[in-house]
Amino acid sequence: MDFDLDEEGKIWDLKVKCPRCNEEYVISEYIYNIPLLGKVILSRGLCNGCGYRYNDVRAAESAGPQRIKLYIDEPEDLNILVIRAASASIYIPELGVSIEPGPASEGFITTVEGILDRVLKIMGMLYSDDSIDKDAWMDVYNAILDAKNGGKAFTLIINDPDGISRIISDKVEKERLYQD
Ligand SMILES: [Zn+2]
Repeated sequence: MDFDLDEEGKIWDLKVKCPRCNEEYVISEYIYNIPLLGKVILSRGLCNGCGYRYNDVRAAESAGPQRIKLYIDEPEDLNILVIRAASASIYIPELGVSIEPGPASEGFITTVEGILDRVLKIMGMLYSDDSIDKDAWMDVYNAILDAKNGGKAFTLIINDPDGISRIISDKVEKERLYQD
């Protein structure tokens, strides 16, 4: 999902250090009231030193540390909207998927299907690595494709210590996240 960012929704500019080259650059933050999603803050930045791009999306209000869980067992569920903040982890146990936040991780608004597409894209980049087991890779890849085509039920879990990710569905289960 892309948004036209204009001055109207702008909250502020923040000066930060680039995680890649350590040069100072500016992140601009915008607040929008988006249908279905509610109040959302979008952040964008570009480091002129090295071209590093920063993107994040988060709900404007924190729900407190939480684990949100959605069981996907109907094709329509693939269209459910998801806000994944950069600080949140994503797990899909049935498919062996786990995405942990790193220094260059991005927040995004997408659908459940969009998350599967991201995983497939990352897997595509890993395939050329000689150290991976190609048979095991193929099994996982096919299972994700099957899920994307509605042929396999799965659970999407987002662990969010900041409480700013969302899954927009009545079917969602939430529980408080306790840090280890
Ligand atoms: Zn940089």
